[in-house]
Amino acid sequence: MTARIIDGEAIAAEIRVSLKREVEKLLLSGKSRPGLAAVLVGDDPASHTYVRLKRKASAEVGIESVAQELAADSSQEQIENLVHELNADPTIHGILVQLPLPQGIDEEAVLGAISIEKDVDGFHPLNIGKLAMKGREPLFVPATPAGCITLLKSAGATLQGANAVVVGRSNIVGMPAALLLVRENATVTICHSRTKDLQSVCRNADILIAAIGRAEMIRGDWIKPGAFVIDVGTNRVDDASKERGYRLVGDVAFDEAIEVAQAITPVPGGVGPMTIAGLLRNTLQSAQRLQGYMGEAML
Ligand code: NDP
Repeated sequence: MTARIIDGEAIAAEIRVSLKREVEKLLLSGKSRPGLAAVLVGDDPASHTYVRLKRKASAEVGIESVAQELAADSSQEQIENLVHELNADPTIHGILVQLPLPQGIDEEAVLGAISIEKDVDGFHPLNIGKLAMKGREPLFVPATPAGCITLLKSAGATLQGANAVVVGRSNIVGMPAALLLVRENATVTICHSRTKDLQSVCRNADILIAAIGRAEMIRGDWIKPGAFVIDVGTNRVDDASKERGYRLVGDVAFDEAIEVAQAITPVPGGVGPMTIAGLLRNTLQSAQRLQGYMGEAML
């Protein structure tokens, strides 16, 4: 069997088209344009790139974005004060704090300072807590895990009753992905660096989400024939044939897995594009909610 490739670029592009349409409708109804503030502390080049990409994508769908840059030696108080100012600013409907923060900064306190109503990354403990609770609805769901679920559904996976395995338990990907799968009535196993016989656990998965950060660790023979595989991993490996000297690969050995799985996401072009689309969707929904506007349901 050769797996279908789940095209995250195409699905994210569809989401962006519907976001643009919804932003236009919001403006036509006399409400203000959604505003996203990106807080960037320090000079980490990767963080600057991520924020630039997020701002570019915002502009494409009509979301106003502002970059709030602070020096690497900013104090905890300066960062939290900026977050409080943004909480109070009525033109801002979403606040993201680009992680990682410089060493010595209490990340939990900064994320906790974001108003839960503007927490478009969905990392506020209250949002994550509600995600974990039965019968509670978080205001925002983190974009990358939400993207994994959207990709699975678009590929036609049945989540209810499925054996789902998530490799990775980080706050931003693995754990919320597992919580979302539980909400979809999957039977979920969460794996991590201390899991015994990971290979056997993976081989039992109808749905496999890999969020590890280790290039091509999951081999083809770890995958159950016919499984749906979502590869969140984004790893650089040296490649002299590329101008930039490296290429990106996932946590799954794609060329092997494609021979076994039913459907699989590529890297790049799978989960990555869904992350930014999810952030923009959260920002639009926040602008709608904060302005008392009922939007249409979106992917
Ligand atoms: P973290 O480093 O925070 O978490 C990695 C997880 O993998 C941990 O739970 C860790 O276990 C587990 N792990 C590490 N080594 C092993 C191993 N040998 N066997 C089993 N489990 C292992 O990473 P993130 O969750 O932030 O990111 C994971 C990957 O996803 C990265 O490649 C990252 O670049 C990518 N990513 C991609 C995004 C996208 O938009 N496409 C967005 C965010 C991340 P333990 O808890 O025991 O340490």
